[in-house]
Amino acid sequence: MSVEEQINILREELRQHNYNYYVLDNATISDYDFDLKLKDLAKLEEENPQYFDANSPTQRVGGEVTKNFNTVVHKNRMYSLDNSYSKEDLVDWEKRIQKIIGSETIEYTCELKYDGASINLTYENGILKNAVTRGDGFQGDEVTANIKTIKSIPLVLNESDFNSFEIRGEIILPFDGFNKMNEERIEAGEDPYRNPRNTASGSLKLQDSAEVAKRPLDCLLYHVVEASNKYETHFKTLEHIQKLGFKVPKAIKVCKSIDEVFNFIEHWDTERHNLPYETDGIVVKVNSLAYQDELGFTSKAPRWAIAYKFKAEQVSTILNEITYQVGRTGAITPVANLEPVQLAGTIVKRASLHNADQIEKLDIRVGDTVFVEKGGEIIPKIVGVELSSRPQNSEPTKYITHCPDCNTKLVRNEGDAKHYCPNEYGCPTQITGRIQHFISRKAMNIDGLGAETVELLFKEGLIQNYADLYELTVAQVIPLERMAEKSAQNMIEGIEKSKQIPFEKVLFALGIRFVGETVAKKLAKHFKSIDNLMNATFEELISVDEIGDRIAESVISFSQNLINIQLVDRLKLYGVQLEVSEMELKNHSNILQGKIFVVSGVFTNLSRNDLKKSIEDNGGKVASSISKKTTYVVAGDKMGPSKRTKAESLNVPIISEDDYLKLLEN
Ligand code: AMP
Ligand code: ZN
Repeated sequence: MSVEEQINILREELRQHNYNYYVLDNATISDYDFDLKLKDLAKLEEENPQYFDANSPTQRVGGEVTKNFNTVVHKNRMYSLDNSYSKEDLVDWEKRIQKIIGSETIEYTCELKYDGASINLTYENGILKNAVTRGDGFQGDEVTANIKTIKSIPLVLNESDFNSFEIRGEIILPFDGFNKMNEERIEAGEDPYRNPRNTASGSLKLQDSAEVAKRPLDCLLYHVVEASNKYETHFKTLEHIQKLGFKVPKAIKVCKSIDEVFNFIEHWDTERHNLPYETDGIVVKVNSLAYQDELGFTSKAPRWAIAYKFKAEQVSTILNEITYQVGRTGAITPVANLEPVQLAGTIVKRASLHNADQIEKLDIRVGDTVFVEKGGEIIPKIVGVELSSRPQNSEPTKYITHCPDCNTKLVRNEGDAKHYCPNEYGCPTQITGRIQHFISRKAMNIDGLGAETVELLFKEGLIQNYADLYELTVAQVIPLERMAEKSAQNMIEGIEKSKQIPFEKVLFALGIRFVGETVAKKLAKHFKSIDNLMNATFEELISVDEIGDRIAESVISFSQNLINIQLVDRLKLYGVQLEVSEMELKNHSNILQGKIFVVSGVFTNLSRNDLKKSIEDNGGKVASSISKKTTYVVAGDKMGPSKRTKAESLNVPIISEDDYLKLLEN
């Protein structure tokens, strides 16, 4: 046997054992023998470097160090999931779906909702090519070297019948491994990790992949991108990917009705406590992939799936103190400082009290025994008071009247639940909060500058607002605490690089109240430049789709403020993108203005999403269901029969992908 053959046989043998052990949970060799064989292989590979293979089982131990993770734009966006909390929510969801696809009975697949960090894996010819985190859904970090160390992720598939495909799953840390890691940490005198989910997602961003290899991470798969090209149903997709070598949990069921779905939910609501890993709910998905294609996505989540969140766990503990936080918009949030208590796998020390009304309504007082609950949010909340344990000298809580930060008298506007500190441009927390928002990942994404450094820069008098960032020099920041020449340079380079960030993100970064990510995108697309936006009238603003009074008023009040006008002028001067670039303007037009499209089926030239984007970029609107208002239905292969009937009965023209492209040319 040649050395090459020997190497290949060992690799295949080890790969199979690895799969049996980590995916099927069925060991077919002792650890000792596995290690021996692995050592043999490593030795052969070392002696014969010409046969190196990045996907060899020997590469699982890691060793590659990544200093900066590459940002990768997702070919297909990674969406969130809408949440539901009751059977009624699910019934409503079904009604919404039926309205679109018009089917009497819909089949669902139910899966557990795995609580970890999502990952997008790309395979080419059966070999793992790259792994990218979800990031903001549009782009994430490439963490391939780290992912390769997770033993349940196949580096080479059992079958390789696909040229290229993307598959998604959740990186989790099972309780066992998590507890073991914590025991070691405590022994070493270090603080234990708070919970498995954060530890799992933190692990993906470790620079040294050998460190990741030491962590008992696992990966559970739940989605194949563009699966409808190959499979009929979601369930069949999951069945097949299991054969390919991926780990898919057994707790999956096809249900023929919402009643059946709910039985599954009720079963797992108690049974979940016996699982080896965390789950906070169930994900219900429309089983037919043709229906999934027809249903599509909202701006946040697929219409064809919904998460059901289990009712939160509750514990009681003592409320030691109420403190008050000032947000970047001046909103005051009361915070309960609690006697630390274990809740749903984490230690809770603080909880949100929302606002003055909430405190008054529940009559929450310092010294009380309170009930704490952990819902979907990261911060737990207080849901009630045990009145029978109230101390005798207890006094009602007096809400603060002045800002804890700048001592300005607080205001509370009609209709607002919260108190605000009106000292927008003088209150330190608001000033730093706005700058911290400006530099954050979804905004200007400035590398090398963090929230703490912003506070430091402000304290040292180096910045008063976000425009000041662009005047900072390396020499100015080096003397700062914990700053070195290299980190100072990184920071200034990061700021310089942010001048390339596209206008829509800059607009979000400005921190105009009520202008979140999605609204900023809409406004940028419509007005195309900051000047157009700041000169827009109330009527012009509300004429934009989905822009209401509240947002319009906020934009106008921002635009009329002299401080903001000056800030924006300065940003312009420094070269920050305050208009949509030439590149983005290309392929954009108003040709389809006023036309409403419904897209159905599978297309040959454009992907479904590209087609929709093209419609929107050219001024058209995409609707999910056919009505009298629909101008055209663009039909691809396998268009839903119910849609065809509906279009015909309403006399809505059905056009092909080619017809659509011709429409654009005219
Ligand atoms: P959320 O982040 O709460 O909006 O929920 C969406 C996330 O749930 C996705 O990004 C996935 O990472 C995660 N998830 C966990 N289990 C599943 C599952 N079985 N199907 C789909 N998504 C899941
Ligand atoms: Zn203040």
